[in-house]
Amino acid sequence: TGRTETLEFQAETQALMQLMIHSIYSNKDIFLRELISNGSDALDKLRIESLVNSDLDVDRSDLHLELEPDAEARTLTVRDNGIGMSRDEVVSLIGTIAKSGTAELLRKLRESNSADSAELIGQFGVGFYSSFMVADRVTLLTRRAGESTGTRWESTGEGTYTIEDVDDAPQGTAVTLHLKPVDTDDQLHDYADPAVVRSIVKKYSDFIAWPIRLAGSDEPINSMKALWARPRAEVTEAEYAEFYKHVSHDWTDPLETIHVKAEGTFEYDALLFLPARAPFDLYTRDAQRGVQLYVKRVFIMADCEALVPQYLRFVKGVVDAQDLSLNVSREILQQDRQIQAVRRRLVKKVLGTLRDLQTQHPEKYQTFWAEFGRALKEGLLEDSANREQILDLLSFSSTADPSKLVTLREYVERRPEGQTEIYYLTGDSRATIENSPHLEAFRAKGYEVLVLTDPIDEVWVDQVTEYDGIPLKSVAKGQVDLGSTSAETPAEFDGLLTWMAGALSESVKEVRLSTRLVSSPACVVGDANDLTPTLEKMYRAMGQ
Ligand code: ADP
Ligand code: MG
Repeated sequence: TGRTETLEFQAETQALMQLMIHSIYSNKDIFLRELISNGSDALDKLRIESLVNSDLDVDRSDLHLELEPDAEARTLTVRDNGIGMSRDEVVSLIGTIAKSGTAELLRKLRESNSADSAELIGQFGVGFYSSFMVADRVTLLTRRAGESTGTRWESTGEGTYTIEDVDDAPQGTAVTLHLKPVDTDDQLHDYADPAVVRSIVKKYSDFIAWPIRLAGSDEPINSMKALWARPRAEVTEAEYAEFYKHVSHDWTDPLETIHVKAEGTFEYDALLFLPARAPFDLYTRDAQRGVQLYVKRVFIMADCEALVPQYLRFVKGVVDAQDLSLNVSREILQQDRQIQAVRRRLVKKVLGTLRDLQTQHPEKYQTFWAEFGRALKEGLLEDSANREQILDLLSFSSTADPSKLVTLREYVERRPEGQTEIYYLTGDSRATIENSPHLEAFRAKGYEVLVLTDPIDEVWVDQVTEYDGIPLKSVAKGQVDLGSTSAETPAEFDGLLTWMAGALSESVKEVRLSTRLVSSPACVVGDANDLTPTLEKMYRAMGQ
């Protein structure tokens, strides 16, 4: 016992902590929200773990959070009697930032100016480290439920931390902030003042489901009211926004709130949010997915993938069901018919909300599209039942006006008479596509061509062959019938074509006359069934 070690923070963690210490984020109050949110998560985890493992030696008699401001010592302690952490967990959870996208975030932070960096870091969410905005030293004392030895962790945020074993730690975690001095004219931000602490809790953490008490008092200072169970008209936008930040770990307000109350055979409340910014890991394998599941106000699990499909993984929020077992597992949920019905309903709700944004709030829709459009396109492959609805939500660049996006509906409505197909071209970038000789005849005819540059575009265009009964066609594949643009009869070219086919026999399958060129003498096209060049490249890069 008494093993004391001084360890170094991981380089990325150090860089992020420096940013917090030198406080790029103007609203310092939110550190308390972060610590309370961690305490609340720890209480949830304890409840779940003691359900799953009834042998676990835990005290769950009075689960709560406690805040202890101490004006004399100039400290604020945030305490929970939740799951706690083992020594190894402290090292891995508090000493490192395991979030994917950390490196990417740091690169962006280095390139951005300080006003942007506050926003970037808020988007990333630095949780526990936000303590260093208000404290020059942080002590964490913790004992994991079921273990006998506790751990004390301490750091000034300057590159290293100490960690030691402690014999007499209570179950759970206590984080003590040694507060930075406050200006005398800044009493509102004196976190050693109980009145200040109380008002911050009211503002940011009122809905937390566990009692939050001030040390020495039994009265909770939060109302613990589940927002989703209240009538929509009684909840303010600010309350929704704070709740969103709690469930999403995002620091920015949501783009849209969806509140569903389902009555009938399977009753549930759902409170879902569309974020305004994509998380850094949205397109990585460890992207968190799904919303939280509650049963009768009791937290059951985070990231419940049975409730939202993969392509809507950016949707955050809560579903609270009336009639489910508290012991329900992920596997059971995947099979449950009622959960499947909830999921279908929620998908419809989300797609319907997006449709409303698109038609009534185009600016919001553009924000959504820029952040999440690529994910939504995955739905064309994943969710064929809603394919038409998803197709209507897509926006594309096109050859018409580089600065504007076009929907399929608009494309179809404005196409010239005689054009019977929807044309697109896939490629790495707009520039490559625009220089393609494939486009010449389409330009000459005044036909608009959709410019598809997302890697996922290559995949869905293979599956989706029409929109509203109108064929979708790649201008780079097979025969495109634009009507003859040349007066010569093909027979005159027989000799030339045979000679060329012979000369190029190593490289091409066939040489034929084309109606798609105007000024270029020749272009290479794929067979209707061939891979497109981008896909071919993608597969080659993957070693196939
Ligand atoms: P996040 O909450 O987004 O995971 P944080 O930086 O807030 O990030 O916390 C990092 C991790 O440290 C948490 O995921 C959790 O595992 C652990 N942790 C933090 N505070 C507590 C606590 N009070 N009790 C138990 N574990 C905690
Ligand atoms: Mg946290």
